[in-house]
Amino acid sequence: MSEQVDTIIIGAGQGGLSTSYYLKQQGREHIILEQADQVAAAWRQRWDSFTLITPNWTVKLPGAEYKGDDPDGFMPRDEVIAYFEEYVEQFELPIRYGVQVTSVEPVEAGYLVRTDKGEFEAANVVVATGMYQQPKFPPMSANLSSEIRQLHSSEYHNPEALPAGAVLVVGSAQSGCQIAEELYQRGRKVYLSVSGAGRLPRRYRGKDITRWMAEMGFGDRTVDKLQPSFSKFAGSAHGTGKDGGHTINLHQFARDGVVLLGHIQSAQDNGIILEPNLKENLAKVDKFEAEIVKLIDEYIKKNGLDVPIETLPELRDGYEAEEIINLDLKSEGITSVIWATGYKFDFGMVKLPIFDEDGYPLQKRGVTEFPGLYFIGLPFLHTATSGLLSGVGGDAAHVASVMATSEKEQLILN
Ligand SMILES: Cc1cc2nc3c(=O)[nH]c(=O)nc-3n(C[C@H](O)[C@H](O)[C@H](O)COP(=O)(O)OP(=O)(O)OC[C@H]3O[C@@H](n4cnc5c(N)ncnc54)[C@H](O)[C@@H]3O)c2cc1C
Repeated sequence: MSEQVDTIIIGAGQGGLSTSYYLKQQGREHIILEQADQVAAAWRQRWDSFTLITPNWTVKLPGAEYKGDDPDGFMPRDEVIAYFEEYVEQFELPIRYGVQVTSVEPVEAGYLVRTDKGEFEAANVVVATGMYQQPKFPPMSANLSSEIRQLHSSEYHNPEALPAGAVLVVGSAQSGCQIAEELYQRGRKVYLSVSGAGRLPRRYRGKDITRWMAEMGFGDRTVDKLQPSFSKFAGSAHGTGKDGGHTINLHQFARDGVVLLGHIQSAQDNGIILEPNLKENLAKVDKFEAEIVKLIDEYIKKNGLDVPIETLPELRDGYEAEEIINLDLKSEGITSVIWATGYKFDFGMVKLPIFDEDGYPLQKRGVTEFPGLYFIGLPFLHTATSGLLSGVGGDAAHVASVMATSEKEQLILN
């Protein structure tokens, strides 16, 4: 016998909680099913020294805008978790923990939601399971010697938790760069396989980069206006909020002794073959920053803003590094490999033909073609900030309002 409920939200991350906030305001009966035993499960997976990369003023889930005394600071992991815990308590959000949804199927009255704790029937289902669901390991990781400790960036805690020795970090988007920086600053020899993710200057011409981007309407760009070549799955540009926030510069890494490498082509036992594309990748990293700086300069000029002139440092150390093609992990003393290679998502539990060739849901601002079925929280669901703490609330408000409107229309039709 299945339990009947008007609306089911799957996942108690920022997407699920924001939607629940609006449904509560509507007085709509709903529950959030969360497979973990606590809220903020994704944030609990971050490493010990993790801080947000977006400043505190961007932390604004609906009804809970940041009110602390450090709006330009960067919350550490445990504060983010506490913020989520308070949010649930303050708004008395109806979460059922330890319930994993296994499938969502259409039935006459709406949807049948099967879980490991029984079945539910709901008129509406909001899928809020995020896009960073499972660690992504390239298949070649299986070829490495069993003597090497391999872990995904989501499993990294701190340098002390790794075996003694040098570390190879694979991937230079947000996680890889921050982890590599912590490791070398704490005395580890680090090898970093560099990808094309760009460099975000932390501050430029008197403002944090996030302020500039917000002011320039960068976060408001809707997905339909993006260049066709744009990938919503690209690694995020690197930067950090650690120690008050600073720019992460791979040339500085090289200057400080980090060995920069190109992409990994293949791996076998202790041997790694690298593509000779380190310089090409570094050029992409530098170009990204140059383009952002140019956009900000143009914006300042167009709007006649009275802000200081600034020239960012143009380090070149990475270009002078030797292009390594063969790396022997044993002879380099590398005992751990951290795969900072991103995450996989899988919405296979939704048994409906609503996914594109990448498995990303076909929807408009979270609303699918199937009445009562919604998605929330995914990067570029609607805008550049849809997957962020700053932008998810707007999409949640939209989904909740479409739900209410569709219901009214149904009542009128009947
Ligand atoms: C390294 C890193 C740094 C980041 N830094 C920032 C930052 O500085 N600022 C910012 O705004 N964003 C940041 N983000 C992005 C942000 O963490 C994510 O976008 C956010 O967690 C997504 O929220 P969500 O609610 O969509 O999904 P999630 O937070 O992933 O929540 C989904 C929930 O669904 C649950 N779930 C999944 N499957 C099921 C199932 N079948 N049944 C029941 N429950 C299920 C999960 O347990 C989870 O609790 C960062 C992301 C990463 C990876």
